[in-house]
Amino acid sequence: MKLRNLKEMEVTEKTILYRAPYDIDVIEKNGVLEVSDDMRIRATLPTLEYLLKENCKIVILFYVGRPDGKIVEKFKTNPHAKRLSELLNKPVEKVDDCIGSVIAEKISEMKSGDILMLENVRFHAEEMTDDDAFSKELCEGKDLIVFDGFPQAHRMHSSTTGIERHLPAVAGLYLEKEVAMLSGLLENPGRPFTVIIGGAKISDKVEAIRNLLKMADTILVGGAVANVFLKAQGRELGSSFVEDVFVDKVKREKKDWVEEAKSILSLAESLGKEVIIPTDVVISDGKETKIIDITKEGVPSEWMALDIGPETRKKFYDIILKSKTVFINGPMGKAGDSRFLPGSQTVIDAMKEVVGETIIAGGDTIDTFRKNGNLENYSHISLAGGATLEFLAGKELPALKALE
Ligand code: ADP
Ligand code: MG
Repeated sequence: MKLRNLKEMEVTEKTILYRAPYDIDVIEKNGVLEVSDDMRIRATLPTLEYLLKENCKIVILFYVGRPDGKIVEKFKTNPHAKRLSELLNKPVEKVDDCIGSVIAEKISEMKSGDILMLENVRFHAEEMTDDDAFSKELCEGKDLIVFDGFPQAHRMHSSTTGIERHLPAVAGLYLEKEVAMLSGLLENPGRPFTVIIGGAKISDKVEAIRNLLKMADTILVGGAVANVFLKAQGRELGSSFVEDVFVDKVKREKKDWVEEAKSILSLAESLGKEVIIPTDVVISDGKETKIIDITKEGVPSEWMALDIGPETRKKFYDIILKSKTVFINGPMGKAGDSRFLPGSQTVIDAMKEVVGETIIAGGDTIDTFRKNGNLENYSHISLAGGATLEFLAGKELPALKALE
């Protein structure tokens, strides 16, 4: 996928509506609200610095959390403005709304290099219905949209698809990198291409797994997702977390994930691809831990499988090391507990050694890599959750259409 490039666009001295990806949780520290993590803000600095160099006026638009059309103190954008200002070492003026005459006047008074941060667009109920009049109002007084809201690009909201109906839009440098890296996986990955899937739920990831299976050479499965595949192989899992049945609340459809895992395994076989499932696991009853060969014995009834075992780790390590492209989403075990970290640690260490592209996605996965490794050692950290998985599933993200 090729997007219209910011650097090929005439932006000098324009008033930019900058669609930022700053949907970030805030935490209270010594009575002050702060963003819990500034990775998404740091990721936008190249775009913003470029626009500043071009003497633009920058008006920043985004949403935070789910305030449902009401003003909610903890979802205000003040902590985001404060952190951005610190990182840019420049004032970022925060205003109390995103539309209206007061804001319009502020924008008309802006000078080159000024940055204005709007209030959470979700304080207006019209945002989530992609209301056209509201979308138009968001565009008033601006010349061009620079779109970096990749984590929100799968949504059809006023601040995504809505504004794109009223102003020309180009991709920001952050969004461009996300799309380039993820498209690379789907279009022309260096081979062997290994995909590592772990974490809690197969339901979140199944469509991405199916689509990646077409491109990948090998899929390594760990975490609780592996439990579903182990169950599909007829293994006994005791009290392990296994997402077996799932009711889709919107479609009211019941899905059997064990059947889905079986169908993925047969699809892989027909494509001549390898899906590698743990042969040994670390189990615990909450007090003790032990390693079992899951191909020979089941998990006892009060015990849970919480990490991949040493034989599986060794296998994963060797495959990762021989790969030219590695993508991971989902930790290999309950990595927040040091007893169940070794599986994830193995992957963190192996991916560091890879000569080629290494891409990390998912909030818990990034956290695990950051705490137990150094994010600088990998080619790309994908900062979108749902949007990354939908992109990898091969779906069209509505907000990207206007940028092609
Ligand atoms: P990401 O946020 O990176 O997409 P997920 O949210 O899918 O990852 O998965 C992370 C969660 O999965 C963590 O809370 C972790 O404790 C849990 N998890 C991983 N392996 C297991 C397991 N074997 N049993 C129970 N929970 C697990
Ligand atoms: Mg998660």
